[in-house]
Amino acid sequence: MISDVRISDRGAILLGKSVACDAYDETRPLRVVTHAHADHLVGLRRSLKECNKVLMTKATKELIEVLKGYSIFDSSPIEKVDYGKSFAYDDDTITFFKANHILGAAQVLVENSNGDRVAYTGDFRLEGTSPIEDCDTLVVEATYGSPSFRRSFDSDITELLVSLVEKRLRKGKVYVFGYYGKLQEIMQILRCAHVYVPFVMPERILRISEVCKRHGMNLGDLTLSSDEQGRELLDKNLPCVAFYHMNKRKSIGVSNFKICVSGWEFQLPCKKIGYNEHLIALSDHSDFDGLVEYIRLSNPKKVITDNYRVRHGSILAKEITRRLGIPAEAMPNRDCYTLEKFF
Ligand SMILES: [Zn+2]
Repeated sequence: MISDVRISDRGAILLGKSVACDAYDETRPLRVVTHAHADHLVGLRRSLKECNKVLMTKATKELIEVLKGYSIFDSSPIEKVDYGKSFAYDDDTITFFKANHILGAAQVLVENSNGDRVAYTGDFRLEGTSPIEDCDTLVVEATYGSPSFRRSFDSDITELLVSLVEKRLRKGKVYVFGYYGKLQEIMQILRCAHVYVPFVMPERILRISEVCKRHGMNLGDLTLSSDEQGRELLDKNLPCVAFYHMNKRKSIGVSNFKICVSGWEFQLPCKKIGYNEHLIALSDHSDFDGLVEYIRLSNPKKVITDNYRVRHGSILAKEITRRLGIPAEAMPNRDCYTLEKFF
């Protein structure tokens, strides 16, 4: 067994002898970035300066360039790794596998020459995350790590979303609020459902969307909200869908029809949360049952839950041991962190 698998007090997931995932760690020469959300980019500038290599998928690199500025990777030791491909360093072989979360997201497997295998899920939604590899020690995300975080409704959420948008478009513009990555998923859902009205958005969301389009997502034509056409669509309340980051939700007047897309809803797939405002329960994370199922499928001898990025790592560790009989521990051993999860 590889002994040194742990999560540091600064949130670095340490795998094998060489790898630190999702935060800088001075003891590890390799930094892995599993995806482009802010709570997985901890200490990235330092890693780019001090690590021998910084590994990520091509899509993750392009998303970070938009979010952090294109100069962040100037003369840096980036190694782009494709899904299913390996990178060898000393005694460790690092392999990425697709995680269904946001564009470019990866699960990470580290093997050494003794055949010891340690893995980190990164953030993921079980459906579409494949393959799930067997491993000796598994580090698992714990966003919905409590048994109270279960989505028991069977409704087709994408159908609900599409019909809500289509209905309201007859009266004019529709605002959709969400986080980076999820907004682009919603755009794709709408385009695939043949919603062809203009999609209007501020520059950063448009740049992220262009990266997603380059990597094969079907988002159609996109309009900048500050362009003449974008301003006209919004000012004249013409049929269009306007996409904004969740943190802009309060700055759009109550007379506008708003849809917020969030995973933090477990009772109803769609509910009214205010005058002219609905919440759609679409998540890019597994719920509690999905986390437990992933662990069962990877068949580890030991599990470590990420207690740095959320506050449910300890509960999840106890539930894993109780339900699956696998020793599990939450790391770091602290109760609660408040992190701004996204940019
Ligand atoms: Zn994430």
